[in-house]
Amino acid sequence: MREFDYSRADNVDSAISAHGGQASAYVAGGTTLIDLVKLDVMQPDRIVDVNRLPLNGIEVLDDGRLKIGAMVRNTALAYHPRVEHDYSVLSQALLQGASRQLRNRATTAGNVMQRVRCPYFRNGVSACNKREPGSGCAAIGGDNRSVHAVLGTSEACIATHPSDMCVAMAAIGATVHVRGSSGERAIDFLDFHRLPGDTPHIEHDLEGDELITHVTLDAPIKGGHAAYIKLRDRSSYQFALASSAAIVALDGDTIAAARIAMGGVATKPWRAQEAENALIGQPATLESFEKAAAIAMQGATPYKDNAFKIPLGRKAVVRSLRDATARAQNQDQGRDQGQN
Ligand code: SF4
Repeated sequence: MREFDYSRADNVDSAISAHGGQASAYVAGGTTLIDLVKLDVMQPDRIVDVNRLPLNGIEVLDDGRLKIGAMVRNTALAYHPRVEHDYSVLSQALLQGASRQLRNRATTAGNVMQRVRCPYFRNGVSACNKREPGSGCAAIGGDNRSVHAVLGTSEACIATHPSDMCVAMAAIGATVHVRGSSGERAIDFLDFHRLPGDTPHIEHDLEGDELITHVTLDAPIKGGHAAYIKLRDRSSYQFALASSAAIVALDGDTIAAARIAMGGVATKPWRAQEAENALIGQPATLESFEKAAAIAMQGATPYKDNAFKIPLGRKAVVRSLRDATARAQNQDQGRDQGQN
């Protein structure tokens, strides 16, 4: 049992000052950190409990964006009326993540900061460049079926980012707001998580004692309808083999706007902007969706056990686009019938 200092902060300034450096960690829900400390994979000298920080609010800003406090629990976020109505893809993704008990504890910031589920990372003994830089990667050439990626990989690491919530946020468009002893910063959500490259131990853009204070979601797409499809080995309490968040707005039968992000197949929440661009102005048909899905998975690199993720990822994209479009068409039909 390793010893560490523990303190509880009542406000953001005292949390940042208690953190004080690299060997410290903030803890909120603890659904990642406590596991990894018990496994001796993470060894912080100091843990700063941020559960009492007043960062629990959800509010609509004047410009239409939604501000979500770092400490908002996943359940509260999923069932917030504004999220259910304007950002249903986020609500759907959250409710397909983890278990009810975990969602009740897990926070917005903690979910953004989730660490990988690669068993070689978590067992504490295998070669793992993420846990021990320069030691190698046991997953390449090992068992790499379920929590290993085909997009955004490198020769140093192929672990997938495990979050469902982050996939939805990548599709919506979001900004991560952080504060540390050197001031405040706003980081585009798509730049927050890093590709592994040759430094897989550096997973995100946070520096030193910086703390996530809130996340803002872009204003909702006018007329947008959404679907989150998560394909996995069992239907609950399981990470995605492939997932897709899609938001579609129609002009008649033509796609006026589209957003696609994928999970389970990539080393970070994966926005498929080229696929989105290919959909704009196209008819909302299966053929258009299949073309976009093929573009979304372009450049995928299969490993020993996970080549199936390439067609599975395409299927997830097609299904999410199909379901989002069906919701948009149903709404249009309902409006037309109401006018007759
Ligand atoms: Fe470690 Fe990444 Fe390789 Fe897994 S895939 S063993 S996390 S370096």
